[in-house]
Amino acid sequence: MRIGRIATVLSAVALTASLAACGSSEKTIDKEAREAAGKGALIGVTMPTRSSERWISDGDNLKAGLEKLGYKVDLQYAENDIPTQVNQLENQITKGARLLIVASIDGTTLTTQLQRAADNGIKVIAYDRLIRNSPNVDYYATFDNFKVGVQQATSLLIGLKVKNPDGSEGPAKGPFNIELFAGSPDDNNATFFYNGAMSVLKPYIDRGVLKVKSGQTDFKTIAILRWDPATAQKRMEDLLTNTYRDGSKVHGVLSPYDGLSIGILSALKSNGYGTAGQPYPIVTGQDAEVASIKSILGGEQYSTIFKDTRKLAETTVQMADTVLKGGKPTVNNTKDYDNGVKVVPSQLLEPVIVTKDNVKTALVDTGYYTADKIGLK
Ligand code: BGC
Repeated sequence: MRIGRIATVLSAVALTASLAACGSSEKTIDKEAREAAGKGALIGVTMPTRSSERWISDGDNLKAGLEKLGYKVDLQYAENDIPTQVNQLENQITKGARLLIVASIDGTTLTTQLQRAADNGIKVIAYDRLIRNSPNVDYYATFDNFKVGVQQATSLLIGLKVKNPDGSEGPAKGPFNIELFAGSPDDNNATFFYNGAMSVLKPYIDRGVLKVKSGQTDFKTIAILRWDPATAQKRMEDLLTNTYRDGSKVHGVLSPYDGLSIGILSALKSNGYGTAGQPYPIVTGQDAEVASIKSILGGEQYSTIFKDTRKLAETTVQMADTVLKGGKPTVNNTKDYDNGVKVVPSQLLEPVIVTKDNVKTALVDTGYYTADKIGLK
């Protein structure tokens, strides 16, 4: 029905436009009709999982923002199961969605569905994670993912006092034992985080200030499939029992996501860390999840990277609205996000390092969390 209506409106546009030939009102009529065609349209939103808070906020914020503009929203979560996400996209296409906003689980597995979307004139926005191997990704809204990695590594160096918070070289000379973790190998972001972090850490590793005692620095070896906290906890336990059997201590852990950080801290705790005599190493994170903010305030996790999901949702809602009205959304990057087939025009937002020192200003004063929610006195 809806598709029929849209088609009628659009053909009316075509007709009016051709009748008007080069008339001055052509543009206005065209614009109005396109806006009418997009009005009240169904937008499919697919999120990877509810097991991490950030995706719940992302989904809620997107839905609220789109509904406010009069769109209908089908919001789905796939609990990290690829076939489920594939089915959700298929359903949204069948139900007549005019635009899809997709935070993929595995960025390489949606080529067929996106082709079907394109064949039906449905636009696609990759949300936070780039969708790979498809020409049918119109736009990408995300944070500066390379910078996230740079910030994670920088906060690790600041925590170890190798660097000062102002970026200058700090008093500590090491050598410090560190271990590295990376995100899910099927998530395009994970490589960006890793490359960003290594761009900062490598010179210190090369100079011997930092020592990856396990020798495990390769992305494939340190990647944690599906960002699973239990897998990270197990890997940390294995590192402690194998590499640190000789009684040497871990001083720093590069962790790319708060869920993994909590798992890593838990492995460290079972191995005697977290006491006055044997403090936790500097552990990084990402997403400013409540459990990690509490851990940071409690002196366990050292840092996280705050990516304001309200802003990402707002940016994406604007993008979707502009696209559905036939316009070109604002982008600020047209070179870095090559999905294997094309460079996807992207809008990158700024991530922020959060430690104990700026929890209040970054998260409470901005209204992201109430002081109560994170247990801030
Ligand atoms: C997101 C991160 C998140 C991770 C695990 C990544 O794609 O960019 O914010 O920590 O997935 O959910």
